[in-house]
Amino acid sequence: MMRTLAKNRATLTKFLIEERRSHPDATGEFNELILAVAQATKLIAHAVAKGALAGVGDDIGSINVQGEGQKALDVIANGIFVRTTEWPGVVAGLASEEMDEPRLVPAEYQRGKYLLVFDPLDGSSNIAVNVSVGSIFSILRAPRPGEDPALEEFLQPGTEQVAAGYAIYGPSTMLVLTVGRGVAGFTLDPDLGEFVLTHPDVRVPETTQEFAINSSNSRFWEPPVKRYVEECLAGQTGPRGKDFNMRWIASLVAECHRILMRGGVFLYPRDSKDPGRAGRLRLLYEANPIGMIVEQAGGRASTGEVPVLEVAPTSLHQRIGFVFGSAEEVERIERYHREPPEDDAGMDVPLFGVRGLFRTAD
Ligand code: MN
Ligand code: MN
Repeated sequence: MMRTLAKNRATLTKFLIEERRSHPDATGEFNELILAVAQATKLIAHAVAKGALAGVGDDIGSINVQGEGQKALDVIANGIFVRTTEWPGVVAGLASEEMDEPRLVPAEYQRGKYLLVFDPLDGSSNIAVNVSVGSIFSILRAPRPGEDPALEEFLQPGTEQVAAGYAIYGPSTMLVLTVGRGVAGFTLDPDLGEFVLTHPDVRVPETTQEFAINSSNSRFWEPPVKRYVEECLAGQTGPRGKDFNMRWIASLVAECHRILMRGGVFLYPRDSKDPGRAGRLRLLYEANPIGMIVEQAGGRASTGEVPVLEVAPTSLHQRIGFVFGSAEEVERIERYHREPPEDDAGMDVPLFGVRGLFRTAD
């Protein structure tokens, strides 16, 4: 029964061949790259599934460029991504959360016309507790195809992405992909080893009653974020007039996947905890690819103030405030950032009438 259903669905390969028909000038390199990335995610899914049997959650005593402890699987997943994507001759260079500097393609392989930027294992602290993790990737054009890229050539705004996606290693493994024409979700059939198109047109639901934020940081939040969350918490008797639920998985991929499937808003805003950094998540291989997927699915992705995809990156491992999800919620948060702050913003419901006066006086 299930096999019959799967037979009528497109595989990732078929999906890519059909996409290519709408780009008659395409050389096929792009499809090769997507298939190489998909292959990497299958290998990582396999390693993740072995769990403690393979020692995948072990701390290996090293720290990455972010100053975070590396897990064995962070390093394994990075190696899988590198080995699987650098040999077919379709990338000019790679950059990863787990590598301080961009990796050049070894001399024996041809250099291609794309740059691949990735977080090989997102949410890896969840491995030890057997909660979903993922991989995130972003594909850019190499400004000088066929040649070794300079670091600066990776520093392209998210609007320049050719494609982006993530794999989620959950109860089932899924690959969620955009090539700039909507978002498609594929589920790995473990018997066939094939990604099968199960979610042909993923759309972020427009309205939501769920938000996700790490509220242990609330004392560091800026007033617009405090106001937004307090209004949600005030529920039906507050200014929003409805009750909200809160969610927090501490895995960007899993948060994004939930929001794509049933709506919501996610915030990891800039805060005052560490004034030296602009946020927690990384622009090039977390916020930009997730942002492209969310926007292609009809949602909105923001720094909290401006569209995240328009930010010009200044360094490879740059961090940024990141807010994404249902468009009307994200727009509301952006609006709160534009409105004049109040002494006790969001603390007291009657004050919202005052804020209303400010608005009409504009
Ligand atoms: Mn990550
Ligand atoms: Mn990671």
